[in-house]
Amino acid sequence: MNSDTMNQAKRIPGHRFLHSPGPTRVPDEVVHAMSRQPMDLADPRLLDVIGACESGLRRLLRTREAQVFMYSANGHGAWEAVITNLVAPGQTVLVPGTGHFSESWAVQTEALGGRVVRTPYLEGFPIDAGAVEQALRADIHHEIVAVFAVHTDTASSVTSDLRALRTAINAAGHPALFVVDVVASLGAAPFAMDELGANVVIGASQKGLMVPPGLGFVAVDSAAMAVARRNPMPRFYWDWERRSSELAYRKFCGTPPQSLLLGLEAALSLIFQEGVDQIIARHRLIARAVHAAVDGWSGGGALQFFSRVPEARSTSVTTVLVQPGIDPEAIREVARERFQVAIAGGLGPLAGRVFRIGHLGDMNPAMILGCLAGVEAALKVQGVSPGRGGMQQAVACLAEG
Ligand SMILES: *Cc1c(COP(=O)(O)O)cnc(C)c1O
Repeated sequence: MNSDTMNQAKRIPGHRFLHSPGPTRVPDEVVHAMSRQPMDLADPRLLDVIGACESGLRRLLRTREAQVFMYSANGHGAWEAVITNLVAPGQTVLVPGTGHFSESWAVQTEALGGRVVRTPYLEGFPIDAGAVEQALRADIHHEIVAVFAVHTDTASSVTSDLRALRTAINAAGHPALFVVDVVASLGAAPFAMDELGANVVIGASQKGLMVPPGLGFVAVDSAAMAVARRNPMPRFYWDWERRSSELAYRKFCGTPPQSLLLGLEAALSLIFQEGVDQIIARHRLIARAVHAAVDGWSGGGALQFFSRVPEARSTSVTTVLVQPGIDPEAIREVARERFQVAIAGGLGPLAGRVFRIGHLGDMNPAMILGCLAGVEAALKVQGVSPGRGGMQQAVACLAEG
């Protein structure tokens, strides 16, 4: 068979820029760690890898006490774990509105028999902590079991103030558990589970953690474990009690996803080598460069920030609203196919209205300039005015440091 008949994909020279907000680029060290042969399940090295992942995640989440459970699953799997462990059919949770991701989590909870009270979501705005406090005060019989809060909604690129939410729950004097989804913010924005007073935290491998998709995890404190123990909801694979074991086979309810664990171990080691504070500062700088570019582009009137509150703009991803008549999917296609820059589109009600630039994980200033240049070139191809020039502003921002 020669290459004409093999239907081979043509090799594209050079680096392809992956700027989706997950999956993100995987560092070479992680790729290499994952390319090892599997281990037998009794191999003590396997237990060491699992232990390193658990303690590394606890360190990154800044919790001393919480137990970590990891699943061969994506973020939705980790949501399912939380719902089935904490919410019996007919019980209620409060889901503060952040957009697509809060709504997806709410719908999944309802599909599993839970009831959901929602606080309203205003497009482009973070969670309204006042509305959360009000909803909890209105629940005089304390029927709400938990508050399910999304830290950074990856669709809107808005980050909410988790401390304000904790304060609201305390002010209402409500015993609901505080469950936080940091899938999109962990490793890109400051977070401290114990200091915050979160009872459960949810994450996944493929965003700020720089590992391929497929590993979801939760950290669970003793108050949440106690609620889970009393919860009669039938469950098996997701069950925290069943997974509380020293045996690898029990911890994972079967064979552990070894390659992903090896990747996570390597990624956590990169994270602690660089330093969490340094990583957050790097994400802030790169996000500022993206914001400078969007600010420049928006001068042309064709594009604008979706996020309406500058302080709530995420350090992970930026959602750009396009004027009616401009097709963000066409911009994405030109960026990907002609300029090798992959950006994301709109989710749920934002489909066809926005594009999104991911800027988290294994990223540096020159990479974000490459991405922004590719996007600006795609805008030009599509006849969209680049305003005052996004690139120039991004370069100026990075030059300032
Ligand atoms: C990506 C994401 C999820 C879902 O993760 P999947 O791995 O796609 O299932 C959940 N919550 C947030 C905030 C996310 O960004």
